[in-house]
Amino acid sequence: MKHYDYLIVGSGLFGATFAYRARQAGKSSLVIDKRKQLGGNVYCKQIEGINVHQYGAHIFHTNSKMVWDFVNSLVPFNRYTNSPVACWQGHYYNLPFNMNTFYEIFGTRTPAEAQAKLEEEKAAMRQKLLSEGVSEPRNLEEQAQLLIGKTIYERLIKGYTEKQWGRKCTELPAFIIKRLPVRLVFDNNYFNDNYQGIPIGGYNKLINALLEGVDTLTDTDFFDADEPLRGSWREHASKLVYTGQLDEYFDYKLGKLSFRTVRFETETLDEPNHQGNAVINYTEASVPYTRIIEHKHFESFGQAVYDNPKTVISREYSTEWKPGMEPFYPVNDDENNKLADSYRELAKQEKDVIFGGRLADYKYYDMAPVIEKVLGIDRF
Ligand code: FAD
Repeated sequence: MKHYDYLIVGSGLFGATFAYRARQAGKSSLVIDKRKQLGGNVYCKQIEGINVHQYGAHIFHTNSKMVWDFVNSLVPFNRYTNSPVACWQGHYYNLPFNMNTFYEIFGTRTPAEAQAKLEEEKAAMRQKLLSEGVSEPRNLEEQAQLLIGKTIYERLIKGYTEKQWGRKCTELPAFIIKRLPVRLVFDNNYFNDNYQGIPIGGYNKLINALLEGVDTLTDTDFFDADEPLRGSWREHASKLVYTGQLDEYFDYKLGKLSFRTVRFETETLDEPNHQGNAVINYTEASVPYTRIIEHKHFESFGQAVYDNPKTVISREYSTEWKPGMEPFYPVNDDENNKLADSYRELAKQEKDVIFGGRLADYKYYDMAPVIEKVLGIDRF
């Protein structure tokens, strides 16, 4: 095997952007991934001509002009604007909470009317806590009602959050919901960022552009017992870039970090337009899935939706993670954060290893911050 400057474990956005920048700096890399394909969580599978977000819907959004210009220099992005809709007992509400939502729920027509109604609802929870001699919300249910009142909490937050976490809101800590953004304008654009969109032609184009001219190996696990790269990587590369699970790198010797995951049920339908939107959240507890994603709406607009007579949807079920499942969301409670900190101390001692990305940092990152981190590295 040729000797590389970097062996990069993981072909997600961290690994692929690192390989791109290393190549620009004249350095060679071998990128390996244990999956059958490159791209990490942004990988899309083509079904009926539609890019299906295999590891969950991915919407690129950022305030960083540097990151936006960088990704657009590799592949132009479209004008997709995330405007999810919530469905509760057959009623549809616009998200994020804005004048449309308040009109749909309370019938309020002006910002002043909406504000007054919200204040009245929030005051009821303040009053309740006061009468019980409690100064701080004791759980997520109380916190959410202090921020948005009972009606919206019960219709749009309670069931969804309980499905996401697999626990009752009364058993979840208040800190999980720090803020609930409220907009007193008729604006359904979910993100406040200056830039958002989807790569035209899909995320695989972005990954392919980042990895152009870089050696890659799929179906190759760094920890594979038959191909012990883990023990021998220094024979093949000067430095290791590791984007896999932090605890796995250290053989779980301090214990296992926990995650939440999502199970996807993907279906092709013989109709051009199933739900009229990319994202619909199901906010009642009795519907077992949290969302339905209709993938074509990320990249088709107007008449183009009807040019393809088929559509692909994915129902998302939020699930407790067990080894062997995809580790999606770190559980940032005290116990896991402490354990991750101990592993980070060990990682500092690995002088020729760069740990990066969401799994090795044990942190939830959106895509743009991952790219920004790599763009911020000044020496390769
Ligand atoms: P990953 O993309 O996970 O890549 C890590 C790669 O390492 C994987 O391909 C894995 O197979 C490989 N690997 C791990 N261990 C080994 C090993 N031992 N040997 C070889 N290979 C290994 N961000 C947004 O900005 N917008 C969104 O809408 C959005 N939606 C999301 C939805 C979901 C369900 C999830 C989980 C995340 C979402 N994100 C979103 C976040 C986004 O996915 C991440 O920021 C991004 O994928 C991070 O890239 P990464 O390279 O760190 O990790």
